[in-house]
Amino acid sequence: MDVIKNFIDGAFVESGSTRTADVMNPATGEVQAQVKLSSKAELDDAVARAAEAQKAWGATNPQRRARVMMKFGALVNEHMDELAELVSREHGKTLPDARGDVQRGLEVVEVCMGAPAMLKGEFTDDGGPGIDLYSMRQPLGVVAGITPFNFPAMIPMWKMAPALASGNAMILKPSERVPSTALRLAELLQEAGLPDGVLQVVNGDKEVVDAILDNETIAAVGFVGSTPIAQYIYGRAANNGKRAQCFGGAKNHMLIMPDADLDKAADALVGAGYGAAGERCMAISVAVPVGQETADRLIEKLVPRVENLKVGPYTAGDDVDFGPVITAASKARINGLIDSGVDQGAKLVVDGRGFQLQGYENGFFCGPSLFDNVTPDMDIYKEEIFGPVLSQVRMETYEDALNLVMDNDYGNGTAIFTADGDTARDFAHRVNVGMVGINFPIPVPLSYHTFGGWKKSAFGDLNQYGPDAFRFYTKTKTVTARWFSGIKEGGEFNFKAMD
Ligand code: NAD
Repeated sequence: MDVIKNFIDGAFVESGSTRTADVMNPATGEVQAQVKLSSKAELDDAVARAAEAQKAWGATNPQRRARVMMKFGALVNEHMDELAELVSREHGKTLPDARGDVQRGLEVVEVCMGAPAMLKGEFTDDGGPGIDLYSMRQPLGVVAGITPFNFPAMIPMWKMAPALASGNAMILKPSERVPSTALRLAELLQEAGLPDGVLQVVNGDKEVVDAILDNETIAAVGFVGSTPIAQYIYGRAANNGKRAQCFGGAKNHMLIMPDADLDKAADALVGAGYGAAGERCMAISVAVPVGQETADRLIEKLVPRVENLKVGPYTAGDDVDFGPVITAASKARINGLIDSGVDQGAKLVVDGRGFQLQGYENGFFCGPSLFDNVTPDMDIYKEEIFGPVLSQVRMETYEDALNLVMDNDYGNGTAIFTADGDTARDFAHRVNVGMVGINFPIPVPLSYHTFGGWKKSAFGDLNQYGPDAFRFYTKTKTVTARWFSGIKEGGEFNFKAMD
């Protein structure tokens, strides 16, 4: 059985911990490796080493650091298929989806190749007689990234690239369910020229996370995962005086107006609702048609599309639409929530509960499920299901539909499908959600914008990637300087004349 190691000071090091977690093959339900769950002492040691390594890295000029990002980007590109395979093996998503996972991470690395421009400061000439002001962005020191299972390549890259390009050292704690991709990325960063110790990958669970939150050297924590854990991490990190940005779960709604192209809307809903088995924080899990006629026509278009979705292992090739969910527990939870939807009176129009795949009977596969007549008081509406389940909530008017989104606890992404620019503009302007799509179901902003939700989808300040990430991973220092010899004759305060 493979034992997955930590990456410390540029080498693979086996943790001395006796605690382990199984890394599963979600398609077969078999254990394919074990990852050691590191201890607090191991974390503290990795941080101390990172703090030493950061001194020289932080003093390396930004352009040289950016060159490491350039080489790293080239290596990620070169190893795209290998990385995608690693993602699929542990996560279970299809290979095209896994390539997208790597690609969206790579795009953030590409922005970090321009780190010198992002990090340059500001200057005020002649703020007073002989007085200039300038500000600079300096690294925080050692920072931490804690990442979820659902994007094993993308989110570690979203964390590492801006933190490292800004001159910090990073402790990365990948999800214990999918640790291998992050470790391979760390190796590629080393090959790209990142000095040893500047990136330490420490595997583990709550024990290591708590050690990160309590370690006095760690200055900032970037977390992505579920809302209860995001809120917990934000509270404990902030209480310990750390900068923290913690991105949580989601319940993303898509409004479908009566004037929308319903074929396009149905295609978009199927891609955004069931892609990656619904295990995306930007998945659409609630379809909100406006008007009964729109709802009737939409469900008619959705049913055959959903029934035709192909579920299977990533090894079955490009024909497969989505793979298994991450664990047996996750599958049981999803099926339990579907049961609750039926019990609470929703209409289950496509039932994925009994799905079985020959040869993969122990895999964590869920067939696609589709509900109609869902109401906001039902558990399937309130909970983030994180599985291949789409709920249709019927609303009479645009205002009712908008209010449904506004009243929801989560605020990661949302979308509207309409042919009317005025309605689309009104929606984008008024809705209290961080990322909005207009005729665009998964509005993940490009890497030179920023990514972040509102309400219970994010705790803390500033978004992920883009200019916000450089602000998060640096602190501003502002210098006010006066040079007496530089004061003009006849200036307001002529210090020379006073001598
Ligand atoms: P999770 O919260 O279970 O785990 C995330 C990380 O936290 C992992 O590294 C895990 O080891 C650690 N962790 C888990 N329990 C902990 C505890 N009790 N104390 C301390 N640390 C703990 O999330 P997940 O299941 O891996 O990922 C799925 C979730 O992530 C979904 O809710 C999804 O919406 C969310 N997500 C959000 C975004 C975003 O940008 N908003 C992006 C991707 C995923």
